[in-house]
Amino acid sequence: MTRQAHAPAQPADALDGFRLDAHPMQEHFGPYGGSWIPEVLVPAATRIAHAWADARQDPDFLAEYAHLCRTFIGRPTPLQDAPRLTSHAGGARILLKREDLAHTGAHKINNAIGQALLAKRLGVTSVIAETGAGQHGVATATACALLGIECVVHMGSHDIERQHPNVVRMELLGATVHPVDEGTRTLTDAVSSAVRAWISDPEGTYYLIGSAVGMHPFPTMVRDLQCVIGHEARVQSLALVDQLPNAVVACVGGGSNSIGTFVPFVADEGVELHGAEAAGDGIDTPRHASSIAGGRDGVLHGAHTKLLQDDDGQVLPTHSISAGLDYPGVGPEHAQLAATGRATYHPVTDAQAMDALEVLCRTEGIIPAIESAHAIHLAVELASTRSSDEVVLVTVSGRGDKDLSSIIAWREGRLGDAR
Ligand SMILES: *Cc1c(COP(=O)(O)O)cnc(C)c1O
Repeated sequence: MTRQAHAPAQPADALDGFRLDAHPMQEHFGPYGGSWIPEVLVPAATRIAHAWADARQDPDFLAEYAHLCRTFIGRPTPLQDAPRLTSHAGGARILLKREDLAHTGAHKINNAIGQALLAKRLGVTSVIAETGAGQHGVATATACALLGIECVVHMGSHDIERQHPNVVRMELLGATVHPVDEGTRTLTDAVSSAVRAWISDPEGTYYLIGSAVGMHPFPTMVRDLQCVIGHEARVQSLALVDQLPNAVVACVGGGSNSIGTFVPFVADEGVELHGAEAAGDGIDTPRHASSIAGGRDGVLHGAHTKLLQDDDGQVLPTHSISAGLDYPGVGPEHAQLAATGRATYHPVTDAQAMDALEVLCRTEGIIPAIESAHAIHLAVELASTRSSDEVVLVTVSGRGDKDLSSIIAWREGRLGDAR
Protein backbone atom coordinates (compact mmCIF):
# COMPACT_ATOMS: atom_id res chain seq x y z
CA MET A 1 0.00 0.00 0.00
CA THR A 2 1.29 3.50 -0.74
CA ARG A 3 1.99 5.51 2.38
CA GLN A 4 0.87 9.10 2.77
CA ALA A 5 4.45 10.38 2.61
CA HIS A 6 4.70 9.30 -1.04
CA ALA A 7 1.35 10.67 -2.10
CA PRO A 8 1.64 13.37 -4.80
CA ALA A 9 -0.07 16.12 -2.81
CA GLN A 10 0.87 16.51 0.83
CA PRO A 11 -2.21 16.18 3.02
CA ALA A 12 -0.86 19.06 5.13
CA ASP A 13 -2.25 21.30 2.37
CA ALA A 14 -5.64 20.79 3.95
CA LEU A 15 -4.41 22.45 7.13
CA ASP A 16 -2.55 25.23 5.33
CA GLY A 17 -5.66 26.17 3.42
CA PHE A 18 -7.93 25.50 6.35
CA ARG A 19 -10.66 28.15 6.47
CA LEU A 20 -13.30 28.05 9.16
CA ASP A 21 -15.43 30.54 7.23
CA ALA A 22 -15.69 28.34 4.13
CA HIS A 23 -19.25 27.78 5.32
CA PRO A 24 -21.35 30.60 6.77
CA MET A 25 -22.11 30.85 10.44
CA GLN A 26 -25.75 29.80 10.76
CA GLU A 27 -28.16 30.16 13.63
CA HIS A 28 -30.85 28.28 11.71
CA PHE A 29 -30.63 25.23 9.50
CA GLY A 30 -33.91 25.45 7.63
CA PRO A 31 -36.55 24.96 10.33
CA TYR A 32 -33.93 23.59 12.76
CA GLY A 33 -31.43 25.13 15.19
CA GLY A 34 -31.99 28.44 16.96
CA SER A 35 -31.55 29.43 20.59
CA TRP A 36 -34.41 28.05 22.63
CA ILE A 37 -32.97 29.14 25.94
CA PRO A 38 -34.10 30.96 29.08
CA GLU A 39 -33.56 34.73 29.16
CA VAL A 40 -30.73 34.46 31.72
CA LEU A 41 -28.60 32.50 29.27
CA VAL A 42 -28.97 34.92 26.36
CA PRO A 43 -26.10 37.32 27.22
CA ALA A 44 -23.59 34.49 27.75
CA ALA A 45 -24.58 32.65 24.56
CA THR A 46 -24.56 35.90 22.56
CA ARG A 47 -21.10 36.76 23.86
CA ILE A 48 -19.76 33.39 22.68
CA ALA A 49 -21.50 33.76 19.31
CA HIS A 50 -19.86 37.15 18.71
CA ALA A 51 -16.49 35.87 19.86
CA TRP A 52 -16.72 32.92 17.49
CA ALA A 53 -17.87 35.06 14.53
CA ASP A 54 -14.71 37.09 15.11
CA ALA A 55 -12.28 34.26 15.79
CA ARG A 56 -13.27 32.11 12.81
CA GLN A 57 -12.05 34.82 10.42
CA ASP A 58 -9.02 35.94 12.39
CA PRO A 59 -5.88 34.62 10.61
CA ASP A 60 -3.90 34.60 13.88
CA PHE A 61 -6.50 32.48 15.64
CA LEU A 62 -6.69 30.07 12.71
CA ALA A 63 -2.91 29.82 12.52
CA GLU A 64 -2.72 28.97 16.21
CA TYR A 65 -5.44 26.34 15.83
CA ALA A 66 -3.71 24.82 12.79
CA HIS A 67 -0.41 24.83 14.69
CA LEU A 68 -1.91 22.90 17.62
CA CYS A 69 -3.66 20.53 15.20
CA ARG A 70 -0.28 19.69 13.76
CA THR A 71 1.98 19.67 16.79
CA PHE A 72 -0.33 18.48 19.56
CA ILE A 73 -3.18 16.51 17.99
CA GLY A 74 -0.94 14.94 15.33
CA ARG A 75 -2.88 16.13 12.30
CA PRO A 76 -3.40 15.49 9.54
CA THR A 77 -4.61 12.05 10.53
CA PRO A 78 -4.04 9.48 7.77
CA LEU A 79 -6.51 8.47 5.09
CA GLN A 80 -5.63 4.91 4.28
CA ASP A 81 -6.63 2.12 2.00
CA ALA A 82 -8.28 -0.87 3.64
CA PRO A 83 -7.65 -3.67 1.13
CA ARG A 84 -8.61 -6.57 3.36
CA LEU A 85 -11.78 -4.85 4.59
CA THR A 86 -12.52 -4.03 0.93
CA SER A 87 -12.25 -7.68 -0.12
CA HIS A 88 -14.34 -8.71 2.88
CA ALA A 89 -17.09 -6.34 1.65
CA GLY A 90 -16.62 -7.48 -1.95
CA GLY A 91 -17.41 -4.26 -3.80
CA ALA A 92 -16.25 -0.64 -3.64
CA ARG A 93 -12.80 0.34 -2.42
CA ILE A 94 -13.01 1.36 1.26
CA LEU A 95 -10.85 4.17 2.66
CA LEU A 96 -10.45 4.82 6.39
CA LYS A 97 -10.07 8.32 7.85
CA ARG A 98 -8.13 7.60 11.02
CA GLU A 99 -9.41 9.93 13.76
CA ASP A 100 -8.54 7.12 16.17
CA LEU A 101 -4.93 8.22 15.70
CA ALA A 102 -5.59 11.75 16.96
CA HIS A 103 -4.13 12.53 20.40
CA THR A 104 -6.41 11.13 23.15
CA GLY A 105 -7.74 8.59 20.65
CA ALA A 106 -10.73 10.28 19.04
CA HIS A 107 -11.98 13.32 17.15
CA LYS A 108 -13.32 15.07 20.29
CA ILE A 109 -9.96 16.79 20.83
CA ASN A 110 -10.35 18.82 17.58
CA ASN A 111 -13.32 20.61 19.14
CA ALA A 112 -11.96 20.82 22.69
CA ILE A 113 -8.73 22.52 21.57
CA GLY A 114 -10.57 25.03 19.36
CA GLN A 115 -13.06 26.03 22.05
CA ALA A 116 -10.38 26.18 24.75
CA LEU A 117 -8.49 28.62 22.51
CA LEU A 118 -11.68 30.67 22.27
CA ALA A 119 -12.12 30.58 26.07
CA LYS A 120 -8.60 31.89 26.44
CA ARG A 121 -9.31 34.65 23.93
CA LEU A 122 -12.35 35.61 26.05
CA GLY A 123 -10.10 35.85 29.09
CA VAL A 124 -12.14 33.50 31.27
CA THR A 125 -10.64 31.95 34.40
CA SER A 126 -12.39 28.62 34.20
CA VAL A 127 -13.84 26.22 31.64
CA ILE A 128 -16.93 24.20 32.54
CA ALA A 129 -17.84 20.95 30.81
CA GLU A 130 -20.24 18.10 31.44
CA THR A 131 -19.58 14.49 30.62
CA GLY A 132 -21.40 11.17 30.66
CA ALA A 133 -18.99 8.37 29.84
CA GLY A 134 -16.08 10.75 30.39
CA GLN A 135 -14.67 11.03 26.85
CA HIS A 136 -15.57 14.69 26.39
CA GLY A 137 -14.39 15.41 29.93
CA VAL A 138 -10.99 13.92 29.16
CA ALA A 139 -10.68 15.84 25.87
CA THR A 140 -11.60 19.10 27.63
CA ALA A 141 -9.24 18.44 30.56
CA THR A 142 -6.47 17.74 28.04
CA ALA A 143 -7.04 20.99 26.13
CA CYS A 144 -7.22 23.01 29.37
CA ALA A 145 -3.99 21.47 30.69
CA LEU A 146 -2.25 22.36 27.43
CA LEU A 147 -3.46 25.96 27.51
CA GLY A 148 -3.21 26.50 31.27
CA ILE A 149 -6.92 27.07 31.96
CA GLU A 150 -8.77 25.80 35.03
CA CYS A 151 -11.23 23.04 34.16
CA VAL A 152 -14.27 21.82 36.10
CA VAL A 153 -16.08 18.78 34.71
CA HIS A 154 -19.60 18.10 35.98
CA MET A 155 -20.38 14.40 36.09
CA GLY A 156 -23.24 12.40 37.58
CA SER A 157 -22.11 10.46 40.65
CA HIS A 158 -23.49 7.25 39.12
CA ASP A 159 -21.32 7.82 36.03
CA ILE A 160 -18.33 8.59 38.27
CA GLU A 161 -18.66 5.09 39.73
CA ARG A 162 -19.14 3.46 36.30
CA GLN A 163 -16.38 5.35 34.49
CA HIS A 164 -13.63 5.38 37.06
CA PRO A 165 -10.63 5.28 34.66
CA ASN A 166 -11.80 8.47 32.93
CA VAL A 167 -12.22 10.19 36.30
CA VAL A 168 -8.61 9.33 37.10
CA ARG A 169 -7.52 10.62 33.66
CA MET A 170 -9.30 13.95 34.16
CA GLU A 171 -7.79 14.36 37.64
CA LEU A 172 -4.31 13.49 36.38
CA LEU A 173 -4.77 16.22 33.77
CA GLY A 174 -5.46 18.70 36.56
CA ALA A 175 -9.23 18.99 36.16
CA THR A 176 -11.72 19.07 39.03
CA VAL A 177 -14.47 16.47 38.67
CA HIS A 178 -17.62 17.93 40.20
CA PRO A 179 -19.98 15.11 41.29
CA VAL A 180 -23.69 15.67 40.64
CA ASP A 181 -25.97 13.89 43.08
CA GLU A 182 -29.36 14.97 41.74
CA GLY A 183 -31.89 13.01 39.70
CA THR A 184 -30.63 9.85 38.06
CA ARG A 185 -27.05 11.04 38.76
CA THR A 186 -26.15 10.69 35.05
CA LEU A 187 -25.55 12.93 32.02
CA THR A 188 -28.84 14.89 32.04
CA ASP A 189 -28.25 15.99 35.63
CA ALA A 190 -24.63 16.84 34.83
CA VAL A 191 -25.84 19.08 31.97
CA SER A 192 -28.21 20.98 34.29
CA SER A 193 -25.48 21.37 36.88
CA ALA A 194 -22.94 22.65 34.32
CA VAL A 195 -25.45 25.14 32.89
CA ARG A 196 -26.21 26.44 36.41
CA ALA A 197 -22.49 26.94 37.08
CA TRP A 198 -22.12 28.78 33.76
CA ILE A 199 -25.01 31.19 34.30
CA SER A 200 -23.89 31.95 37.83
CA ASP A 201 -20.68 33.44 36.35
CA PRO A 202 -21.12 33.99 32.58
CA GLU A 203 -18.21 36.45 32.33
CA GLY A 204 -15.65 34.41 34.23
CA THR A 205 -16.48 30.94 32.89
CA TYR A 206 -16.86 29.27 29.50
CA TYR A 207 -19.22 26.34 28.85
CA LEU A 208 -17.49 23.96 26.46
CA ILE A 209 -20.04 21.76 24.65
CA GLY A 210 -18.74 18.50 23.20
CA SER A 211 -20.90 17.87 20.13
CA ALA A 212 -22.63 19.79 17.35
CA VAL A 213 -25.74 20.21 19.51
CA GLY A 214 -27.36 22.81 21.73
CA MET A 215 -28.12 26.50 21.26
CA HIS A 216 -26.49 28.81 18.73
CA PRO A 217 -23.50 29.13 18.22
CA PHE A 218 -22.48 25.62 19.34
CA PRO A 219 -23.77 23.62 16.34
CA THR A 220 -21.93 25.94 13.95
CA MET A 221 -18.80 26.29 16.06
CA VAL A 222 -18.36 22.57 16.71
CA ARG A 223 -19.01 21.88 13.03
CA ASP A 224 -16.41 24.48 12.00
CA LEU A 225 -13.81 22.87 14.24
CA GLN A 226 -14.58 19.28 13.23
CA CYS A 227 -14.56 20.20 9.53
CA VAL A 228 -10.81 19.69 9.69
CA ILE A 229 -11.69 15.98 9.28
CA GLY A 230 -13.55 16.45 5.99
CA HIS A 231 -11.18 19.10 4.62
CA GLU A 232 -8.24 16.75 5.09
CA ALA A 233 -10.13 13.73 3.80
CA ARG A 234 -11.10 15.58 0.63
CA VAL A 235 -7.50 16.56 -0.19
CA GLN A 236 -6.23 13.13 0.82
CA SER A 237 -8.80 11.30 -1.30
CA LEU A 238 -7.76 13.25 -4.40
CA ALA A 239 -4.12 12.46 -3.63
CA LEU A 240 -4.62 8.79 -2.85
CA VAL A 241 -7.21 7.63 -5.40
CA ASP A 242 -7.34 10.58 -7.79
CA GLN A 243 -11.03 11.15 -7.22
CA LEU A 244 -13.55 12.20 -4.62
CA PRO A 245 -15.27 9.34 -2.82
CA ASN A 246 -18.63 8.22 -4.21
CA ALA A 247 -19.95 7.88 -0.67
CA VAL A 248 -18.82 9.27 2.69
CA VAL A 249 -19.84 7.51 5.93
CA ALA A 250 -19.65 8.44 9.63
CA CYS A 251 -21.42 7.56 12.88
CA VAL A 252 -23.90 10.01 14.42
CA GLY A 253 -24.29 10.58 18.16
CA GLY A 254 -24.75 14.30 18.73
CA GLY A 255 -23.29 14.47 15.25
CA SER A 256 -19.89 16.18 15.49
CA ASN A 257 -17.53 13.75 13.73
CA SER A 258 -20.14 13.17 11.03
CA ILE A 259 -20.96 16.84 10.39
CA GLY A 260 -17.22 17.58 10.27
CA THR A 261 -16.76 14.78 7.76
CA PHE A 262 -19.84 15.66 5.66
CA VAL A 263 -19.83 19.44 5.31
CA PRO A 264 -16.66 19.81 3.22
CA PHE A 265 -18.33 17.41 0.72
CA VAL A 266 -21.81 18.96 0.77
CA ALA A 267 -21.21 21.07 -2.34
CA ASP A 268 -19.87 18.03 -4.26
CA GLU A 269 -23.13 16.81 -5.74
CA GLY A 270 -21.76 13.42 -6.75
CA VAL A 271 -20.70 12.54 -3.21
CA GLU A 272 -23.35 10.71 -1.19
CA LEU A 273 -23.42 11.33 2.56
CA HIS A 274 -24.44 8.52 4.92
CA GLY A 275 -24.80 8.63 8.70
CA ALA A 276 -24.95 5.58 10.99
CA GLU A 277 -27.27 6.00 13.97
CA ALA A 278 -27.34 3.70 16.99
CA ALA A 279 -30.29 1.33 16.67
CA GLY A 280 -29.51 -0.56 19.92
CA ASP A 281 -31.78 -3.62 19.97
CA GLY A 282 -33.55 -2.33 16.83
CA ILE A 283 -35.67 0.72 15.99
CA ASP A 284 -38.83 -1.36 16.25
CA THR A 285 -38.03 -1.82 19.99
CA PRO A 286 -37.99 0.89 22.69
CA ARG A 287 -34.26 0.30 23.20
CA HIS A 288 -32.47 2.45 20.61
CA ALA A 289 -31.00 5.91 20.05
CA SER A 290 -31.88 6.61 16.38
CA SER A 291 -33.06 10.21 16.66
CA ILE A 292 -33.53 10.72 12.93
CA ALA A 293 -35.02 7.36 11.96
CA GLY A 294 -37.20 7.16 15.09
CA GLY A 295 -37.58 10.76 16.27
CA ARG A 296 -39.83 13.74 15.71
CA ASP A 297 -39.31 17.50 15.67
CA GLY A 298 -38.95 19.19 19.04
CA VAL A 299 -36.63 21.21 21.25
CA LEU A 300 -33.70 19.65 23.08
CA HIS A 301 -30.89 21.43 24.94
CA GLY A 302 -31.65 24.77 23.30
CA ALA A 303 -32.08 23.68 19.67
CA HIS A 304 -35.05 22.77 17.49
CA THR A 305 -34.14 19.39 16.05
CA LYS A 306 -35.14 15.72 15.74
CA LEU A 307 -35.41 13.88 19.04
CA LEU A 308 -36.83 10.78 20.63
CA GLN A 309 -39.94 11.79 22.55
CA ASP A 310 -43.28 10.38 23.58
CA ASP A 311 -46.70 11.77 22.55
CA ASP A 312 -46.55 14.34 25.36
CA GLY A 313 -43.15 15.60 24.23
CA GLN A 314 -41.27 13.91 27.08
CA VAL A 315 -37.75 12.90 26.08
CA LEU A 316 -37.54 9.12 25.89
CA PRO A 317 -34.86 7.00 27.53
CA THR A 318 -32.35 5.69 24.98
CA HIS A 319 -30.15 2.65 24.63
CA SER A 320 -26.99 1.94 22.72
CA ILE A 321 -24.04 -0.27 23.54
CA SER A 322 -21.86 2.75 22.72
CA ALA A 323 -21.99 5.54 25.29
CA GLY A 324 -21.05 8.14 22.68
CA LEU A 325 -24.12 7.43 20.54
CA ASP A 326 -26.53 7.09 23.47
CA TYR A 327 -28.17 10.52 23.11
CA PRO A 328 -31.88 11.24 22.45
CA GLY A 329 -31.29 14.08 19.97
CA VAL A 330 -29.06 15.04 17.08
CA GLY A 331 -27.41 18.26 15.92
CA PRO A 332 -29.82 20.56 14.01
CA GLU A 333 -27.72 20.60 10.83
CA HIS A 334 -28.20 16.84 10.53
CA ALA A 335 -31.95 17.28 10.99
CA GLN A 336 -31.85 19.60 7.99
CA LEU A 337 -29.56 17.38 5.89
CA ALA A 338 -32.02 14.55 6.52
CA ALA A 339 -35.08 16.69 5.72
CA THR A 340 -33.62 17.92 2.44
CA GLY A 341 -32.39 14.45 1.53
CA ARG A 342 -28.78 15.61 1.08
CA ALA A 343 -27.67 13.03 3.65
CA THR A 344 -29.22 9.67 4.48
CA TYR A 345 -29.29 8.18 7.97
CA HIS A 346 -29.32 4.46 8.66
CA PRO A 347 -30.00 2.63 11.93
CA VAL A 348 -27.26 0.15 12.92
CA THR A 349 -27.92 -2.25 15.80
CA ASP A 350 -25.62 -3.15 18.69
CA ALA A 351 -25.12 -6.62 17.19
CA GLN A 352 -24.27 -5.28 13.72
CA ALA A 353 -21.77 -2.83 15.21
CA MET A 354 -20.08 -5.47 17.37
CA ASP A 355 -19.73 -7.80 14.38
CA ALA A 356 -18.23 -4.97 12.33
CA LEU A 357 -15.83 -4.16 15.19
CA GLU A 358 -14.42 -7.68 15.04
CA VAL A 359 -14.21 -7.57 11.25
CA LEU A 360 -12.12 -4.36 11.30
CA CYS A 361 -9.85 -5.81 13.99
CA ARG A 362 -9.17 -8.95 11.97
CA THR A 363 -8.95 -7.49 8.49
CA GLU A 364 -7.02 -4.29 9.18
CA GLY A 365 -5.46 -4.60 12.62
CA ILE A 366 -7.48 -1.68 14.01
CA ILE A 367 -9.61 -1.91 17.15
CA PRO A 368 -12.20 0.84 16.59
CA ALA A 369 -14.38 2.51 19.19
CA ILE A 370 -17.82 0.89 19.33
CA GLU A 371 -19.25 4.19 18.06
CA SER A 372 -17.01 3.98 14.99
CA ALA A 373 -17.92 0.32 14.46
CA HIS A 374 -21.47 1.50 13.60
CA ALA A 375 -19.98 3.45 10.68
CA ILE A 376 -17.84 0.48 9.65
CA HIS A 377 -20.93 -1.72 9.44
CA LEU A 378 -22.66 0.82 7.21
CA ALA A 379 -19.58 1.34 5.02
CA VAL A 380 -19.25 -2.40 4.42
CA GLU A 381 -22.95 -2.67 3.62
CA LEU A 382 -22.79 0.22 1.13
CA ALA A 383 -19.53 -0.98 -0.42
CA SER A 384 -20.86 -4.49 -0.94
CA THR A 385 -23.54 -3.25 -3.36
CA ARG A 386 -21.14 -1.18 -5.50
CA SER A 387 -18.59 -1.85 -8.20
CA SER A 388 -14.88 -2.02 -7.50
CA ASP A 389 -14.18 1.29 -9.26
CA GLU A 390 -16.26 3.15 -6.67
CA VAL A 391 -14.83 4.53 -3.43
CA VAL A 392 -16.45 4.58 0.03
CA LEU A 393 -14.73 6.76 2.62
CA VAL A 394 -15.51 6.10 6.29
CA THR A 395 -14.41 8.06 9.36
CA VAL A 396 -13.08 5.92 12.20
CA SER A 397 -14.00 8.40 14.94
CA GLY A 398 -12.00 6.78 17.74
CA ARG A 399 -10.03 3.82 19.00
CA GLY A 400 -11.56 1.00 20.98
CA ASP A 401 -9.20 0.70 23.94
CA LYS A 402 -11.72 2.60 26.07
CA ASP A 403 -14.38 -0.01 25.23
CA LEU A 404 -12.68 -3.20 26.32
CA SER A 405 -14.95 -3.75 29.33
CA SER A 406 -18.07 -3.30 27.15
CA ILE A 407 -16.62 -5.67 24.57
CA ILE A 408 -15.97 -8.30 27.26
CA ALA A 409 -19.49 -7.90 28.68
CA TRP A 410 -21.02 -8.17 25.20
CA ARG A 411 -19.15 -11.35 24.39
CA GLU A 412 -20.12 -12.92 27.70
CA GLY A 413 -23.76 -11.91 27.18
CA ARG A 414 -23.82 -13.34 23.70
CA LEU A 415 -22.28 -16.60 24.81
CA GLY A 416 -25.06 -16.69 27.42
CA ASP A 417 -27.73 -16.24 24.73
CA ALA A 418 -26.29 -19.07 22.68
CA ARG A 419 -26.68 -21.60 25.46
C1 LIG B 1 -18.30 10.90 21.48
C2 LIG B 1 -17.97 9.98 20.36
C3 LIG B 1 -18.81 9.83 19.25
C4 LIG B 1 -20.15 10.49 19.10
O1 LIG B 1 -20.13 11.87 19.10
P1 LIG B 1 -20.40 12.74 17.79
O2 LIG B 1 -20.55 14.11 18.34
O3 LIG B 1 -21.63 12.23 17.14
O4 LIG B 1 -19.22 12.61 16.90
C5 LIG B 1 -18.40 9.01 18.20
N1 LIG B 1 -17.23 8.33 18.27
C6 LIG B 1 -16.40 8.44 19.33
C7 LIG B 1 -15.13 7.66 19.32
C8 LIG B 1 -16.74 9.27 20.42
O5 LIG B 1 -15.91 9.35 21.46
